Amino acid sequence: MKLCKLFDEKKVVFSFEIFPPKKTSSIETVYNTLDALKGLHPDYISVTYGAGGAGSGKTCEIATLIKGKYHIEPLAHLTCINATREQILAELEAFKKSGIENILALRGDRNPEIPACYDFAYAGELVEFIAQHGDYNIVGACYPEGHPECNSLEEDITHLKDKVDKGVSHLNSQLFFDNNDFYRFLELTQKAGIFVPIQAGIMPVTNSRQIERMVSLTGAKLPSKFSKIMARYGDNPEALRDAGIAYATEQIVDLIASGVRGIHLYTMNLPYVAQRISTNISSILQTSNQ
Ligand code: FAD
Repeated sequence: MKLCKLFDEKKVVFSFEIFPPKKTSSIETVYNTLDALKGLHPDYISVTYGAGGAGSGKTCEIATLIKGKYHIEPLAHLTCINATREQILAELEAFKKSGIENILALRGDRNPEIPACYDFAYAGELVEFIAQHGDYNIVGACYPEGHPECNSLEEDITHLKDKVDKGVSHLNSQLFFDNNDFYRFLELTQKAGIFVPIQAGIMPVTNSRQIERMVSLTGAKLPSKFSKIMARYGDNPEALRDAGIAYATEQIVDLIASGVRGIHLYTMNLPYVAQRISTNISSILQTSNQ
C-alpha cells in the first residue's frame, strides 16, 4: 500500500524506524526487534540505508521481510550522494521485484572518506529520478531546526518546497527535543506553500553517549528541561531510560493534541522503549483517530 493512502484514512499516523544490523552481524538479529514491534501495530516501519550507501542490500532485504513475514508496510530509505544513476536504477529494480512501493529519498551525509558521485547533488534530484522510473510513493526528510549545512531555516524551507514539488507525498522530520521548534517549522512550511503531511520525528533518549552523538550529528538543540534530566540521571542508565521515555511521551502527547499528522519514532532497534511509549499513548492515538 502506498503510504499516501494512510494519511487519507487516518488523522494521526504512527510509525517506527529501525536500522539494519551491522555488516558483521547476521540479518536474523533484526528478527527479535521486528517480532516485538509487530505487536505494537505501527502503521508502517521505515528501514534506514547505511551511511555512504554501505550495506544497501540489507535495507531491501529487511523491508521485504517486514512486508512478507510481518505484514506491515515498509518504507525503504535510499541515499544518492555516493551513487550513480545505474546503481539507483538497480536499487529501484530490487524494490520493485520485492513489491516495495514506498521510498524515503535522501541525499545522505557528506563523508570525506567516500568520494561523492556527482550524478545526484541533492535529494530533490533523486525524487525526480525515482518519479521518472516507476510508480513509487516518495517520502522526503525535513529539518525543524534547519539542515546543518544551510545558512538559515528559511533558505532550507525554500529547498524543501522544491523537493516536495518534485513528487514527495509526505515528510518525515529530523528528531527534535523542543516542540516549539516543530510548531514554528510547521508555520513556516505552510507560509512557503508546503501542504503535504509532516510527521514529527521523536527519539526517546535512553543513554547519554547516544544523545551526545545525536546532537553532534544533527545539531539538535537541547532545552534546559532536557539538560536537567541528563545532568540528574545521566549516570544511572535505568533512571535515564525512564526519564527519556517520559520526556518523549510528553512531547508526543503535546504534538498529537496540537493536531500534528503523524509521529515517527526512532526506535534505535530497542523494542522495550517502543513498547513503553506505545502503551503510554495508545488511548491517545485511538481517540485521535476516531
Ligand atoms: P537534501 O534535501 O538534499 O538537503 C541537504 C542540504 O542541501 C540542505 O541544507 C538543503 O537546504 C540543501 N539543498 C537542497 N536542495 C538544494 C538545491 N537545489 N540547491 C542548494 N541547496 C540545496 N542518512 C543516511 O545515510 N541513511 C538514512 O537512512 C537516513 N535516514 C534519514 C531519515 C530522516 C527522517 C532524516 C531527517 C535524515 C536521514 N538521514 C539518513 C540523514 C540525511 O541523509 C542527511 O541529513 C543529509 O545530510 C541530508 O539529506 P536530505 O535528503 O535531507 O538532503
